[in-house]
Amino acid sequence: MTYTITLIPGDGIGPDVAEAARRCVDATGVKINWEVAEAGSDVIEKYGTPLPPETLESVRKNKVALKGPITTPIGTGFRSVNVAIRKELDLYACLRPCKSLKGVRSRYENIDLVVVRENTEDLYAGIEFEEGKPETKKLIGEIEKLGKKSIRPDSGLSIKPISISGTKRIVKFAFEYALRHKRKKVTAITKANIMKYTDGLFFAAAREVAKGYEGKIEYEERLIDNMCMQLVQKPELYDVLCLPNLYGDILSDLCAGLIGGLGVAPGANIGEGLAVFEAIHGSAPKYKGLNKVNPVALILSAVLMLDYLGEKDAARKLQNAVAAVIAEGKSVTYDLKPHRDDPSAVGTSEMADAIIAKVKGG
Ligand code: NAD
Repeated sequence: MTYTITLIPGDGIGPDVAEAARRCVDATGVKINWEVAEAGSDVIEKYGTPLPPETLESVRKNKVALKGPITTPIGTGFRSVNVAIRKELDLYACLRPCKSLKGVRSRYENIDLVVVRENTEDLYAGIEFEEGKPETKKLIGEIEKLGKKSIRPDSGLSIKPISISGTKRIVKFAFEYALRHKRKKVTAITKANIMKYTDGLFFAAAREVAKGYEGKIEYEERLIDNMCMQLVQKPELYDVLCLPNLYGDILSDLCAGLIGGLGVAPGANIGEGLAVFEAIHGSAPKYKGLNKVNPVALILSAVLMLDYLGEKDAARKLQNAVAAVIAEGKSVTYDLKPHRDDPSAVGTSEMADAIIAKVKGG
């Protein structure tokens, strides 16, 4: 069988790591017809937008995409392309497994956490009102009338919607993932003691879902501030972590830090029958075009993709090849060497070559 999969190289370091990941997937022998689709700051001039409709169409048609990072320009009219893709395609579940790899320097060993982040609601919904605008003043007036709370007139506002339906589907995703991957526990995390009507609602809806898994998967709740401390002090107590959008974003970087950094942390955005696989890291513009950064995060995202496609053997083969190259520590990028200026560090494509050699040899 040949799969047709959309490949979005992205911008910044995206094209370097996307090409490395594409070659590694091809080396597994799984037949893929890659449909390359453009997005990012480099194509704004050509299309008048960083997210051409053809790119979304390609993902809708092929149902699976592998995506490099895309820069979010600050202070321009464009909102994040990454957020737009997730919202447009309703990729409501962001899956970020964080598992220690031997050979990656970290303060921690044996980390095995899975972050499941809600991807469509919360403060990321993009419902914002700019300071000083007439509609913002009007909204402040309405809120003061309805809520009997005062808001400083020189405020900007961001709205945080959390729904029962949106929460139930992400918590169900977390439990189903836990069942399929033989995990033991789901921890729901919010700041419900302060935001009772949004984060409180998240917990209430999560409890409802958890009832359906009683006796199979354990369920517990934590507050986000306490959770940050606990993950730093005793990460071994935790398993699958399920969070609303913003907390999930922050906590997944924390968990990436526990396993040695963004260079090795993969991710996936999954909806109903659609999935886009991408690393946690961004476009690291200062390394653009230098063939320097670590391709592993996107290659491990491609492992998740192979697993999602049901290509379990290929996924295992590629995962083992990545682990072997890192454990050897020879053909690895600068960030995996004991010192960042180690002259024996190899480039992005050379590290991919070493992984491909293991895939083919192993
Ligand atoms: P970043 O992840 O791009 O880079 C931060 C630092 O992490 C880099 O300077 C580098 O030192 C290190 N790093 C990142 N990826 C690495 C890799 N593969 N190998 C080795 N080191 C690596 O974060 P940032 O600087 O905050 O964001 C840059 C841009 O990327 C912003 O415009 C941001 O909005 C965007 N972004 C995009 C995505 C996405 O496409 N999904 C995710 C996060 C950030």
